[in-house]
Amino acid sequence: MKTQELKSKFIKVRCEKCKNEQIIFSKSATPVKCLVCSEILAEPTGGAAKIIGHILEVLS
Ligand SMILES: [Zn+2]
Repeated sequence: MKTQELKSKFIKVRCEKCKNEQIIFSKSATPVKCLVCSEILAEPTGGAAKIIGHILEVLS
């Protein structure tokens, strides 16, 4: 059986602006904003979201 590559994941990112750490969904369909300063941390691309913040950890 093949491994499913497009698994949904949660990613821990750090906002480059205010250093807030936040867990976001890797396949979010909407832009994800920092809860502290509203900087965009991830943008939807149709598939996996484009992560803009600094990735600290990938959680499965
Ligand atoms: Zn921020």
